[in-house]
This record gives sequence, structure tokens and C-alpha cells, in this order.
Amino acid sequence: MSWRVSKALLTLRAEVEKAHPGRSKVSDGTVGDTSHSARVSDHNPDENGIVHAWDVTVWDGPDPDALDDVAQPLAEFLRAKRDPRTKYVIHRGQMFRSYDKPGIPAWTWSPYTGPNGHFHHVHVSVYGDDGAPWGYPATTNPQPQPEVDMPTAKEIAEALRPVVREEVGKAIGWTRAVAESPNVADTDSQSQRLKDRAAHLDPERKG
Ligand SMILES: [Zn+2]
Repeated sequence: MSWRVSKALLTLRAEVEKAHPGRSKVSDGTVGDTSHSARVSDHNPDENGIVHAWDVTVWDGPDPDALDDVAQPLAEFLRAKRDPRTKYVIHRGQMFRSYDKPGIPAWTWSPYTGPNGHFHHVHVSVYGDDGAPWGYPATTNPQPQPEVDMPTAKEIAEALRPVVREEVGKAIGWTRAVAESPNVADTDSQSQRLKDRAAHLDPERKG
């Protein structure tokens, strides 16, 4: 039987991909495997061949604090949004539904006791086939920006070395030229003369 994913999920997925570029997809999935098809699951195509569930991989990198890199913001977005297309979400042993159950109000987390605690992915079930935007914010979880190709301080120093050497060389040459010029000697003797004269004019000066 041919199947396709609900447009609602395709739109949501596109928004999530935009907000979390480069996210891991190892536990992603839509259509159900044989264990799913043996029971009622939104991963199984409905009578129209449409799949209404999407498993979104929980970030599985080395930083345990970032475990919910994608799943947590997505789950909380859906919970806060209260979009009529959202059916239920399962994540890390918890579940919220868009409808009331005895003792469990809609849109609140409650323990999930199914066979799979959903620690590697967040399960999103939706109603219908409406592909309207969800409004998942592109900045929910900003990823590290690609490194701008800036020269390092060492590279700058190395590039400048010949220039600096030339400039220093010029400056040394200039200083030497000034020191050796007859005008400098003149200036020196002139200032000496001024000093001498000042000494003569100083009334306190003895001798
Ligand atoms: Zn699932």
C-alpha cells in the first residue's frame, strides 16, 4: 500500500529542520515498522494512506544537558501552541494530549506507561492533512554559527613582519640620518648656547 506523511507533519518538519540545522536524525521516523503495524498506531497509514505520526530524534551528543536539544523545545512548543492539528506528544516517559482524559486535563504532561518510554525520540501525532504553517520559531535553539574565516593573531603578525621590518629599518635609518646631519649638531650647540644664556640671566646663579 502506498503511503505518505500528513502535510501537517511535513510543514512542521520543514520548520524544525530550519530551526535545528544539522540535528541528528538517527531515531527519526514516520511510517511504522512491523511492531507498529501489529497494533493501532499513528505510524500506520490511515484508510487514505496518510501517516499521522513523526518521531523526532532526541539530540544524542556527549553533553547530557543538551539531551533535549530538539525534542524538548519542539514538545513544549506544541504544548503551548495548542494547535487543533496536534493530537498527542510522547517524550521521555511523559505524554500530553490535546484532549481531556479522566484526571488528566488536555495539554498537561502525565506519565506515559507504553512499551517505549520515548527517550530517544519525541513522538508527535497529528490530526488531518492541513499543511498550514505551525509557526515554530527559527531561533528556538540556535546552533553554533559556522566559524568565520578570520586570520589568527599569529597569521596577522607573520603577514606584517616584513612590513614592520621595513618600517623599523626606515625609522632607524631616518634616526641615524638625523643624528648624523650637521643641522642636528647645530641645533645641539644652539640649545647649549640658550642654556648658557639662561644661566647668565639667573640672578641666583653663583659664579
Ligand atoms: Zn512514534
